[in-house]
Amino acid sequence: MRLLGNYSKQPFLWIFKLKDCKRCAETKPLTSYYKDKKAKDGLRGFCKDCEHKGRDLVNDATYAVNRRLRRCAKDMIRYKLDKMLINSRVRDKKKRLPNNLTLEYLIEKFSLVTHCPVFGYILDWQNTVKGASIPTSPSLDAIDPLLGHVMGNVQVISWLANTMKWNSTPDELRMFGKWCLALNT
Ligand SMILES: [Zn+2]
Repeated sequence: MRLLGNYSKQPFLWIFKLKDCKRCAETKPLTSYYKDKKAKDGLRGFCKDCEHKGRDLVNDATYAVNRRLRRCAKDMIRYKLDKMLINSRVRDKKKRLPNNLTLEYLIEKFSLVTHCPVFGYILDWQNTVKGASIPTSPSLDAIDPLLGHVMGNVQVISWLANTMKWNSTPDELRMFGKWCLALNT
């Protein structure tokens, strides 16, 4: 059924008129359509039911994409912690130091660490530079390097803080700090 004219300007006709939906092709009363000031007849082309269906589809798609992104981000943290764990085991084996870490322990302790506790930088868990460590990459630090990577002796800090600390003793760090400050004054 084809209708001409803007029905929003003729309210007395409103309840008697029908219009075909452009999507489901059903003939429905005008109250089944949302208003649209830009349309010739003042109404949307799709009926309310069809518009709701469309909106649900869009919402579902958006939700699915967001869920996938969230899962990717979580997987990346897990992946990075696993890599840290494997590297720490290799290092400790070479140095004959103990290592009793597990992936579950690292996930529980560090998967929610978002900032470097030393510099406050946001940690780059998502590996924005592929295949390379950058100053803000998260890295696993043995607090006392002589004890190895054991539960209670590890923390996640930025790669920058970790490389600056390296295996230094507190005395070495103090000397290093003094030397840096002397250079800059
Ligand atoms: Zn419809």
